[in-house]
Amino acid sequence: MGILGGGAAGLTIASGAAQLGAKTLLIEKGKELGGDCLHFGCVPSKTLIRTANVYHLIKNAKHFGLPQVDLPPVDFKEVAKRIQSVISIIQKHDSEERFCKLGVRVEFGQATFVDEHNILLNGEKYSSKTWVIATGSSPSVPSIEGLDKTPYITNREIYSLERLPKTMIVLGAGPIAIEMAQAFCRLGTKVSVIQRSDQILTKEDKDMADQVMKVLSDEGVAFYLNTSVINTMEAGSEKEITIKRGEEVINVRGEIILVAMGRDANLNGLGLKDLDLDFDRAGIKVDHRLRTNQKHIFAAGDVTGEYQFTHAAGYEGGVVITNAIFHLPRRVDYTFFPWCTYTDPELASIGMNEKGAKAAGIKYSAWIEEFKDNDRSLAEGEHIGKIKMILDEREKPLGIQILGPHAGDLVSEWVAIMNGKVKLSTLASAVHPYPTLGEINKRVAGTFLSGKIFSERIKKGLKFFFNLKGRACEPLNRVITP
Ligand SMILES: Cc1cc2nc3c(=O)[nH]c(=O)nc-3n(C[C@H](O)[C@H](O)[C@H](O)COP(=O)(O)OP(=O)(O)OC[C@H]3O[C@@H](n4cnc5c(N)ncnc54)[C@H](O)[C@@H]3O)c2cc1C
Repeated sequence: MGILGGGAAGLTIASGAAQLGAKTLLIEKGKELGGDCLHFGCVPSKTLIRTANVYHLIKNAKHFGLPQVDLPPVDFKEVAKRIQSVISIIQKHDSEERFCKLGVRVEFGQATFVDEHNILLNGEKYSSKTWVIATGSSPSVPSIEGLDKTPYITNREIYSLERLPKTMIVLGAGPIAIEMAQAFCRLGTKVSVIQRSDQILTKEDKDMADQVMKVLSDEGVAFYLNTSVINTMEAGSEKEITIKRGEEVINVRGEIILVAMGRDANLNGLGLKDLDLDFDRAGIKVDHRLRTNQKHIFAAGDVTGEYQFTHAAGYEGGVVITNAIFHLPRRVDYTFFPWCTYTDPELASIGMNEKGAKAAGIKYSAWIEEFKDNDRSLAEGEHIGKIKMILDEREKPLGIQILGPHAGDLVSEWVAIMNGKVKLSTLASAVHPYPTLGEINKRVAGTFLSGKIFSERIKKGLKFFFNLKGRACEPLNRVITP
């Protein structure tokens, strides 16, 4: 098997295929294995977010009954050093040596298909019965007047800045944009976010996304929603972006522009046109078994333009192995696919949200519990957020959204519940340790069920059979006179 791309998808497939006994060639264009997640994505972003959150906590020490601390400004070189040290630890796991030990031959360079079974790499021809394209994605750079002459950065440069920028303009308001906006704001940068639509994190329900935006606004991030970008230019030591909101024209200035406006599939140089493979700018077209229109060529991960997450790439890698190595017809199923945006508080999701249910014309009910009613949240000083459970007409969970502390971890219980088709009554009656954030999962199920258990019908039945006598106390309506 030949695999193009040594990121999350390619590495999963390479290690699985080699360990199952397939002769496996892995080709990576970059200098090292690991892909975007390790070098420019999940790992550096979550490391940076942790650093920013620690700084934010220290700055807000007085909210925890501690003395106020006057902190010196952040030295971003030190932050970048910590990021690189975390990457280098994980890099060992994704090393060429480790993959060679597993039986994978690793080659570095840009591979190009010469026909449907052969590729050219560094002047040599390699042949394989099965190929997998797992070349990932790159930041999409929109065609905005002046942007080609205005210096900007993307997720590839942001983790190795020489110093903390005083000001930053973020173009886009998806997960990458919003995570970075909060992290840099917490480190001390004055951040402005420019977004075309009326909502940040547009895939999420508006009420959840608006709550995230409120947190960031309160911390100092400036949002420009419902805007169109007219042009960008260099303005001395700064950059200037002119935007239009209705009839209003606004100039926003910043030391750095971060472009985070979606992703394009990495297809350049692969020679796909000559191969007659179905693809567009968003990605390579695949069927449910991740086969392209050339059935012996598979595609997995970001390059398909579908669910652009590391855990999606890993999952899809497993599906490719089952189809290509075991020759069993396994299909991808994203019904209960979870994800999380790592703002503070985090916003995690699994299954369908209200937006999705409305778009699909499904009748649903929404059940909400707030973190301000969770004892552990109060103890932690983390009282913002809520869990929203969406049930279908048969009262089965369609989806869950959690905005709150450690939401990404809390949603994992729902991964098991929804995939295992566990009844809500089982969750509600299962003992959870006290006091934990996880009790919110049990509680939302309990709130839904309590409407049924404590109904007038049940009460009447119990009164009839067991002669229950009813209330022992009526609410007092006393007027207190001084
Ligand atoms: C800032 C940021 C934060 C993110 N945070 C998260 C997160 O918290 N959680 C999460 O789940 N996901 C996150 N993601 C998304 C995640 O990084 C991607 O979904 C994941 O890396 C996709 O894996 P992949 O294998 O498809 O692609 P990649 O990991 O990008 O790997 C593709 C590899 O192919 C190589 N390549 C490209 N072209 C060729 C070629 N022609 N020949 C050979 N090799 C080639 C590339 O060099 C690269 O190494 C984040 C992304 C970004 C940008």
